[in-house]
Amino acid sequence: MMSRLFSRKKMNPASKYEHGNDHLIELRNVVKEYKTGAGVFRALKGVNLNVNSHEFVAIIGKSGSGKSTLINMITGIDRPSSGEVLVGDTAVHTLNEGRTAVWRGRNIGVIFQFFQLLPTLTVLENVMLPMDFCNMYAPRERKDKAMYLLNLVDMAENAHKLPNATSGGQQQRAAIARAMANDPQILVADEPTGNLDSKTANAIFDLFNNLVANGKTILMVTHDNDLASRVTRAVMVADGEIVDEKRNPGPAMTPEPAPAPGHNGHAAPEPVAAS
Ligand code: ADP
Ligand code: MG
Repeated sequence: MMSRLFSRKKMNPASKYEHGNDHLIELRNVVKEYKTGAGVFRALKGVNLNVNSHEFVAIIGKSGSGKSTLINMITGIDRPSSGEVLVGDTAVHTLNEGRTAVWRGRNIGVIFQFFQLLPTLTVLENVMLPMDFCNMYAPRERKDKAMYLLNLVDMAENAHKLPNATSGGQQQRAAIARAMANDPQILVADEPTGNLDSKTANAIFDLFNNLVANGKTILMVTHDNDLASRVTRAVMVADGEIVDEKRNPGPAMTPEPAPAPGHNGHAAPEPVAAS
């Protein structure tokens, strides 16, 4: 949990985190260029973004504006051409590929539009996979941890099914449980409701809200203006730049929650209703 992000002795004692950053997530002048047949395409044009812990941030903007590129910088799925990406005590842009994968597995839960569950593994096995990959928890504890998370997303009774035997909303809930496998402080979701009907999308959103209220920090790319108006802050991206930011007085603004015992010591959110 937090200790993974806060543990080491700081190089810069004046700031909250190791690399002189005071926000949990800091993007500093991040440029991303892709080489294409037509030349160099600048997908991010010097993005600066600060996100505090316990924020629920929506990233909005037209298709092709750079939203996925932006969040892929934070997860380390892609790396900047120049600029800095600081997450807690980690300078993500300096990690090599192998170290990035382990760091991400332990510190960031990633959720995609099309769920990306492994089709030949059961729902339960999918949730246990990141624990195995990062060697988190004693092997004999992993199943119980995974069942705890599936219960949290109201998927316990589907634990032994293959993903394809469940609905889209159920698969996304399983994917959220998988993202939480190693109890990361941060969740990053790229259009997580883009493939779901509005009722199911609302249930997923309620689950995210619950997780934020219980201490997680979430960045969510969305096309849904209604959802974007219900988070702490909406950041608008256009042509590779952040062009607007709107703070909402919405329900996600919860002060530091009183810790209740839960998975790995974090507070335990209420399960969401099935859909
Ligand atoms: P969004 O998620 O907002 O729809 P993306 O971040 O996926 O947008 O893409 C931003 C721009 O960068 C688009 O014009 C896209 O075509 C371009 N782009 C994304 N990935 C690559 C790539 N690997 N090679 C070349 N261009 C890319
Ligand atoms: Mg995208």
